Amino acid sequence: MQQYDIVIIGGGPAGLAAAIKAKEEGIDSILILERDKSFGGILNQCIHNGFGLHTFKEELTGPEYAQRFIDKVEEAKIQYKLNTMVIDINEKKIITAVNDEDGILEIQAKAIILAMGCRERPRGAINIPGSRCAGIYTAGTAQKFVNIEGEMPGKEVVILGSGDIGLIMARRMTLEGAKVKAVVELMPYSGGLKRNIVQCLDDFNIPLRLAHTVTKIEGKDRVTGVTISKVDKNLKPIKGTEEYIACDTLLLSVGLLPENELSRTAGVKLGVTGGPEVDERMGTNVEGIFACGNVLHVHDLVDFVTEESYNAGKNASDYVKGKKVEEYKVELFTGEGVGYTVPKFIHKNNIGNGVDVRFRVRNVYKDSYISVYFDDTREIYKKKRVLAPGEMETVKLTEEMFGKYPDCKSITVKIEGIL
Ligand SMILES: Cc1cc2nc3c(=O)[nH]c(=O)nc-3n(C[C@H](O)[C@H](O)[C@H](O)COP(=O)(O)OP(=O)(O)OC[C@H]3O[C@@H](n4cnc5c(N)ncnc54)[C@H](O)[C@@H]3O)c2cc1C
Repeated sequence: MQQYDIVIIGGGPAGLAAAIKAKEEGIDSILILERDKSFGGILNQCIHNGFGLHTFKEELTGPEYAQRFIDKVEEAKIQYKLNTMVIDINEKKIITAVNDEDGILEIQAKAIILAMGCRERPRGAINIPGSRCAGIYTAGTAQKFVNIEGEMPGKEVVILGSGDIGLIMARRMTLEGAKVKAVVELMPYSGGLKRNIVQCLDDFNIPLRLAHTVTKIEGKDRVTGVTISKVDKNLKPIKGTEEYIACDTLLLSVGLLPENELSRTAGVKLGVTGGPEVDERMGTNVEGIFACGNVLHVHDLVDFVTEESYNAGKNASDYVKGKKVEEYKVELFTGEGVGYTVPKFIHKNNIGNGVDVRFRVRNVYKDSYISVYFDDTREIYKKKRVLAPGEMETVKLTEEMFGKYPDCKSITVKIEGIL
């Protein structure tokens, strides 16, 4: 059986950054396993710009951003296998993978970094009534067709879901000559970044139909139209509000799910994000297994993926070198308005230069406050003009704060002053 100090599953931006950091930390025995024929993950099909503003202070396209990390992996001579699908990880950190050249491979790792990204929710997950005709794609599949294969999925398009992928595809399809008739969103607000609403919809006069959903798909062999309906405050369609839109294509952008089948087989505990529960080291409940990137929680900006993955790479290296963290850790909880936090636990002897706690809010809140409580004492109270589920928020917890509450058992992040 082959043996490596650190094996990284996935060669998207998360896996690449984790590998580079581990190498910088002095680990030579590293292997990246990637199922695709090239590195870069989802960035390869994101040919729009807007990547790297935080990391490089430049606006790069997805492939340009990824290439900077691919070059570093090559320069550092980090070992990798492309076209290699990992099919199992067990609790002893034995990885089973398969590819054309080696057949079935078994690899023993001292530490594993999970960086498998996420996948899109398909039509089956939302049960839209209607025929099973052609012309229904997830937005990411359509993006791959247009940007990589050079094929147009359709000419008259309705998009369900206004997260970033839906918004970006509305612009992309328009630029390629399609007519995007509407972006339909179940919630009363968009799930995407504000900048994407402006640059992808407003600039192209594409209507955003908030608090609406698709209630019927029509067409025999190919989609001929969809019916949309307004929804009430319980998100149920309101009778009598049906509206027919003729189209030949329906794109679904209805959420991303962290890709965690392998995490489960390894015994990793998953949390509310659908990804592993991690501590400040990005360490999971299984000693020596770390996670970073979209496999952990869905990110809006790749820059945060990179930061988080450097952290995972550093800590996996420390683990291999035998650095121990104390058993005792503080647990993070969510209060009103907050959906989840990453990390879920913090070791008090490992605060370093502070711990960035990332989270998303549950709704749109105006003129409210992000509050952080150490047990019952409020330590952070930060006013925010607007908070929205589409934008990830961060609070930094410092060593000084932990110093003030040496016996603290729990930390709660919540939104206060909600009108
Ligand atoms: C359409 C879209 C638009 C976006 N736009 C922006 C933007 O404008 N600006 C921005 O900053 N961010 C944007 N993002 C977000 C950013 O691209 C992602 O957050 C980032 O790509 C996540 O990186 P990752 O490495 O965690 O996952 P991925 O990029 O998904 O990489 C995961 C990798 O793991 C591999 N893998 C999975 N399972 C296995 C397995 N079993 N064996 C081997 N390999 C495996 C996959 O093939 C893939 O290469 C966008 C994302 C999408 C989807």
